[in-house]
Amino acid sequence: MTGSTNPGAASAARAAELAQRLSTVRERIDRACADAGRPAGGPTLVVVTKFYPASDVLALAALGVRDIGENRDQEAAAKVAELDPQTRAGLQVHFIGQVQTNKAASVARYADVVHSVDRARLVEALEHGGERAGRQLDVLLQVSLDGDTSRGGAVESDLASLAAAVDQARHLRLRGVMAVAPLDWDPDEAFARLASLAADLRADHPGADLISAGMSGDLEAAIRHGATHLRVGTAILGSRPGHG
Ligand SMILES: *Cc1c(COP(=O)(O)O)cnc(C)c1O
Repeated sequence: MTGSTNPGAASAARAAELAQRLSTVRERIDRACADAGRPAGGPTLVVVTKFYPASDVLALAALGVRDIGENRDQEAAAKVAELDPQTRAGLQVHFIGQVQTNKAASVARYADVVHSVDRARLVEALEHGGERAGRQLDVLLQVSLDGDTSRGGAVESDLASLAAAVDQARHLRLRGVMAVAPLDWDPDEAFARLASLAADLRADHPGADLISAGMSGDLEAAIRHGATHLRVGTAILGSRPGHG
């Protein structure tokens, strides 16, 4: 044994519930791809497991989930550490929440993809963390589409300089953009705007071809506008405590 403990298995009822909800979401994705004239299976489903235990991650992995998303360092670090090495090796861990600069070194130890890079100091801190951990991280630049950066995200005019900073960082690979549709916006309008910013970025950085967009409520709109990564939590795991 390596010292990591196996999380208990999810109950059979929980596993059945996750299987049911996952298949409903997969059907939604397939239908949206068909409606958008995109091949089925194109977008990567990142199942957002925040607030839910490692036993749910295990159950999801058994159902074929290969990508999980987390948004709080302390919770994510503990949860990933609970996974047995084989389950861990089969998963891509996506960090999707705001990263405090002093948590970047921790995030760099377990995240495979960081979706929420939004400032130069964070690029620096993740690069240091990646170097110390001997790991390469894929990063997406998070954009604040309405310019209200209080919930994370860079303003559009900062994207080019952030991209240049990531390009200089040897332990970071610039892979694309991420956004959350602003609450009072039509998601189609938001994701069309994101697609246009993604195309601008890709013109200068051909490897930055990922678009992380779409959650439980708006994944169809994200698929219409070229999302390559969907971040879906409540539609699969259920409502989070304190979130109705
Ligand atoms: C929690 C979260 C999600 C998942 O949202 P749901 O509405 O539960 O699907 C997606 N993206 C980010 C950045 C999140 O924090």
